[in-house]
Amino acid sequence: MKEIILRQSWINNFLRCPEQARQERLELVSQKQTSDLLRGNAVHAAIEWAGLIKQGGEEEVTLEELLDVSDNFLADNGHTIDVWRHNYEDIVDVCRANLVAWYEEIFPILHPQAVEETFKKSMGIRHGVNLILQGTADWIDESGVIWDWKNPSRHYAAWEKKRWDIQSHAYTWAYDKEQFNLCVMADGKIQVIEIPRSPEQKKAFIELCWSIVPTLLTIDDAVTWPQNWEGWHCSPLWCPVWQANKCRGAILGDNPW
Ligand code: SF4
Repeated sequence: MKEIILRQSWINNFLRCPEQARQERLELVSQKQTSDLLRGNAVHAAIEWAGLIKQGGEEEVTLEELLDVSDNFLADNGHTIDVWRHNYEDIVDVCRANLVAWYEEIFPILHPQAVEETFKKSMGIRHGVNLILQGTADWIDESGVIWDWKNPSRHYAAWEKKRWDIQSHAYTWAYDKEQFNLCVMADGKIQVIEIPRSPEQKKAFIELCWSIVPTLLTIDDAVTWPQNWEGWHCSPLWCPVWQANKCRGAILGDNPW
């Protein structure tokens, strides 16, 4: 029996560009650490800290302590960043503004059942392959809603997330829930996108995952998987394959337009 593990985030990479996903899966390249990632990780760390305390049910979480967790995270991890797209002080300010909004608008209405909980669940066995989905939920609330924290530079188009978002399918299926909420924090403003997922939508998601398997089975022998140029991801700014001077990067260099 062959076991294949799909991480939820890797499915997104594969759908964006199979060749980039192949090279990342084989660890031929890796994503650079960016200040965007740092911003998201600092806010995640602070919310995780607050969630665990609230789950314990004994101590009060103050806003000052919450902001301190974020500030300390940034100070401890700033040196790991390869690409600074914003200056350090702006990252500190945005993290603080996002956390103030989260603390005032979202934290009071939530009661965590689990925080940063990892799952690993089989999607069944077909033709000798056991396909396993793996991921980590930011927050599962006692209400049954799964929450995920996003810290992009601007809010999302809600209809796109409701129609296309992969993560909401993956997590509602894995935890057998019906509701996934994206809490999007940008420049201190909160956007909540409520995404219900029906049994039919989850069933379709399982088929999407199985559709990746024939390609995945070629990974040890393939020289390449299909390239997808169409989208923001295919540029020297974002694609680690391009940055390693492979694929389009080998021909167009690091300053193509
Ligand atoms: S350069 Fe473009 S086509 Fe090539 S791996 Fe990167 S995203 Fe894919």
